[in-house]
Amino acid sequence: MKYVIVGGVAGGATTAARLRRLDEKCEIILFEKGSHVSYANCGLPYYIGGVITEREKLFVQTAQGFGRRFNIDARVFSEVIAIDSSTKSIQVVNHLTGETYTESYDKLVLSPGAEPVRPNLPGFAHPKVFTLRNVSDTDRIKKYINENQIKNALVVGAGFIGLEMAENLHQLGVGVSIVEMAPQVMAPLDFPMAAIVHQQLRAKKIKLLLNQGVSSFTDKDGVLEAELTSGERLMVDMVILSIGVRPDVNLAKSSKLELGVTGGIKVNEYLQTSSPDIYALGDAIEYPSPITHQPVITYLAGPANRQARICADNIIQGNRTAYKGSIATAIAKVFDLTVAATGVPAKTLKREGIAFLESTTHSASHASYYPGATMMSIKIVFSPENGKLYGGQIVGNDGVDKRADLIASVIKNNGTIYDLIDLEHAYAPPYSSAKDPVNMAGYVAENILLAKVTPFYWDQVAGLDERAFLLDVRTKGEFEQGSLPRTINIPVDDLRSRLSEIPSDKDIYVFCQVGLRGYIAAKILMQLLPNKVFNLSGGYRTWSVSVSS
Ligand code: FAD
Repeated sequence: MKYVIVGGVAGGATTAARLRRLDEKCEIILFEKGSHVSYANCGLPYYIGGVITEREKLFVQTAQGFGRRFNIDARVFSEVIAIDSSTKSIQVVNHLTGETYTESYDKLVLSPGAEPVRPNLPGFAHPKVFTLRNVSDTDRIKKYINENQIKNALVVGAGFIGLEMAENLHQLGVGVSIVEMAPQVMAPLDFPMAAIVHQQLRAKKIKLLLNQGVSSFTDKDGVLEAELTSGERLMVDMVILSIGVRPDVNLAKSSKLELGVTGGIKVNEYLQTSSPDIYALGDAIEYPSPITHQPVITYLAGPANRQARICADNIIQGNRTAYKGSIATAIAKVFDLTVAATGVPAKTLKREGIAFLESTTHSASHASYYPGATMMSIKIVFSPENGKLYGGQIVGNDGVDKRADLIASVIKNNGTIYDLIDLEHAYAPPYSSAKDPVNMAGYVAENILLAKVTPFYWDQVAGLDERAFLLDVRTKGEFEQGSLPRTINIPVDDLRSRLSEIPSDKDIYVFCQVGLRGYIAAKILMQLLPNKVFNLSGGYRTWSVSVSS
């Protein structure tokens, strides 16, 4: 059998290696139009920033290495330009020699990835406007930085790659501005969680400009002038354009493979395209979200690797393994913060018309009496019917990754908030608390689900009128440092002795710093005023970071 693979990085290289492990006798040809196969795209920003010092470390395997270890014929600078599924053949152009030739296949695998979006606007093709997808892009950026005195850089688009680049440029001593069209960074987060990231970026002296785009770039004596949609102009030495990617479906489209509504290649659960002898995977495919059941594209390395194994297994053993879909579990380092998201955020559920409840908790990363504990914010969204977990977002300094992975495992297994409560974690004071932040998120969600307390949310505060009685149950000292507007302060420990100050003809909106003391106060007050007491989800911390963002 002869297997041909298009795309030689995450999905393609992994499929090739798995095919060989399953079948020693088959012929495998891997075509990569770029200069390298099997490299760590995820490491590229860190090589640019000098965190990864040795370029060689980026390469997991070379084309020659593939030959030696796996007996795979890996051909770089070789672009597949056409597929003829009726004759089961492809056309390849060798970019080094200009030669075009034909190869046949028994099974073809497409893993062409995604390409950065570069709008056709004035100046966007300027050589100082860089995108980052592969090793050649990286070398270009690195060379430009090394050979020029870069004082100011602009990152356009505040997704994961944009923020990683911002941090790495900052690390090199470059002044960094970020322009983002949306009101927030990092689309998989809901606004209040993104607001914590905004705070961090500004604390690191990154100029963060939200709600605006770039309309043009103009070269002014070697310096680029970026004109923003707000009219503001920035003078910068280089630009990283990271406004998103789209599936690289040029080949699939010209070969008449069916595409989905998102523009990705349509595949069935066995990762077969509309042409049964052609499989596809990775950033280029569309697949139903296991949560919303709507078609989505996941631009992540983990799912591409999982799909690669499934794809190879199905090719060799017949279609036995179904791909269950990705819940888009992602993580990024943003300076001192770690930011993670899994499943779907509240805004997606709203858009899809899926009913949900949400809870926000702020917990110490490990026992607060043990040195070094930091605050970790967790937001989860779940079904109001049965508590099925739809998504989780975490922002914090320490231990975010393991909590994100725990939540992801629960979502992946169709779990509920009760599974978060039940999660058994490894605990000793330097690592966690007897009630882990993830357990706490589950407990608070249970209180909301079972209506043990009714939450209200930071964005409802501005709409509260004189019928609302706002009660701050933090200490006097905390209150004096700032509180919600029109608020009365009665510390939770004094509340029982000052109940006469609580009006019975108003709705009582209670809050504390993070939600816990507010909950205790709400439970006291609910016994006197049933159905008239609300507790601020995420407390003053969530409100203050959101309104100041
Ligand atoms: P790719 O790995 O991109 O491989 C596709 C390859 O196909 C490309 O090399 C392309 O040149 C080649 N190709 C396309 N068309 C043809 C053709 N016609 N003929 C021959 N070759 C062709 N994901 C994470 O989960 N975590 C991260 O931290 C992370 N960081 C990232 C940082 C950067 C800078 C980038 C660019 C991506 C990052 N990703 C990250 C995303 C991750 O790298 C991708 O999801 C993953 O590589 C997708 O695998 P793929 O095989 O679909 O595409």
